[in-house]
Amino acid sequence: MNAFLEPQAPSISDSDPLAISNSDPLAPSSSSQLAEGSQPSGKIDLLNFDRQELAEELQARLGFESYRSKQLVAWLYRHRATSFEVMTNISKQARAALAEHFTISRPTAVQVQQSRDGTRKYLFQLDDGNMVESVLIKQTARYTLCVSSQVGCAIGCRFCRTAQMGLVRHLKTAEIIGQVLAVKDDIAGLPLDQDGLKVDFTNIVFMGMGEPLHNVDNVIRTVRLLNDELGLDFSSRKITVSTSGLVPAIRKLGASGAGANLAVSLNATTNEVRTRIMPITKRWPLESLLEALREYPLKRGKRITIEYVMLAGVTDTVDDLRRLPQLLTGIPVKVNLIPYNANAGLGFDAPRRDWVFHWQESLLDAGLNSTIRWSKGDDIDAACGQLATVYEKTKRREKAERQQPQGGIGTPERTIAEAS
Ligand code: SAH
Ligand code: SF4
Repeated sequence: MNAFLEPQAPSISDSDPLAISNSDPLAPSSSSQLAEGSQPSGKIDLLNFDRQELAEELQARLGFESYRSKQLVAWLYRHRATSFEVMTNISKQARAALAEHFTISRPTAVQVQQSRDGTRKYLFQLDDGNMVESVLIKQTARYTLCVSSQVGCAIGCRFCRTAQMGLVRHLKTAEIIGQVLAVKDDIAGLPLDQDGLKVDFTNIVFMGMGEPLHNVDNVIRTVRLLNDELGLDFSSRKITVSTSGLVPAIRKLGASGAGANLAVSLNATTNEVRTRIMPITKRWPLESLLEALREYPLKRGKRITIEYVMLAGVTDTVDDLRRLPQLLTGIPVKVNLIPYNANAGLGFDAPRRDWVFHWQESLLDAGLNSTIRWSKGDDIDAACGQLATVYEKTKRREKAERQQPQGGIGTPERTIAEAS
């Protein structure tokens, strides 16, 4: 059993709900430890700082005035510069000083898969060789980019492929925003898609690999970078952070004022069932999660998204359907029903289509705004966390093969097309 799933002695003090001990595996990341992550070259990656921090860093190291940080944000995010030479409104001398101390990173897209439905899945290799995925999801009239926040995940949800990896590590800010920039780089020259739609994304969701609020400081910093009007300029309505329910970090995100919507993977209506499929419920039961949602600071007219994965016979019973509206009473929410993607092969079944529609109608009747999120990119396994896991397995099989050239393992099936 994953050690993170064992019941834990409460390590959160009543007086300070954000005070989580350092030895706690579910403690949110520390910003100072992860933000500055210098490169092997000893240089510092500029993509690890939001604009305010960038100004401070440039002042401290090079004595630059704060307007330089504005110029840099425009170059790094609006123009997606990867070298200092192109920054022509910065003097040669200043550019040389920047190049001496700083670097600008990009994750490497090692594989890109294109689905028949227009969804595009990326496998990115990070500096230390770890892999993460991003998925550009084609919707009716727009694209949404789904980014990863960790390599693997510590939360251990029983229905999720990513959970099987455990947590390898948190992503740095540069590695999260780097997915956004690298996908933009990749799609920049693409022709219109089969429906005449420009291949570019208007929305960003933190729903790839990992639990974003376990890496809360870097996720908040990334949201600030996405919001920056001199850079990528995504409004808060266009960004969604999805969490399995880390209550202190939900409060931290709310208090930070970072411009993003909150989505919560509720996925069950009783503590008993939720604990079985999402062991984090032991730590933060439904009552404390719902209380945090009730107290979450929302701008006028905004709602929290409740994600609800329908696992046939487990979370989609008639009783669940009756309980769900009761649980959510008084909380401004919209419900996103997610029929289980059984590709994950973890012993759960997908609900029947007509049952999913029945749920939606019943919730609407109960006064709950509800939508269905059908899985996209089925032909390329583009659901939560699947790519990296498939890749890891393929790599392991290849390694085993190399070690046993005569062995009976067989040729690994390459389920993933290599990018050129
Ligand atoms: N860790 C965060 C975000 C990543 S998971 C979270 O759990 O919210 C994104 C969403 O995918 C979550 O709502 C999760 O419940 C859902 N999910 C995971 N595996 C799935 C599967 N096999 N089929 C359908 N939804 C799945
Ligand atoms: Fe982690 Fe989310 Fe998967 Fe749960 S559903 S294991 S929190 S990525």
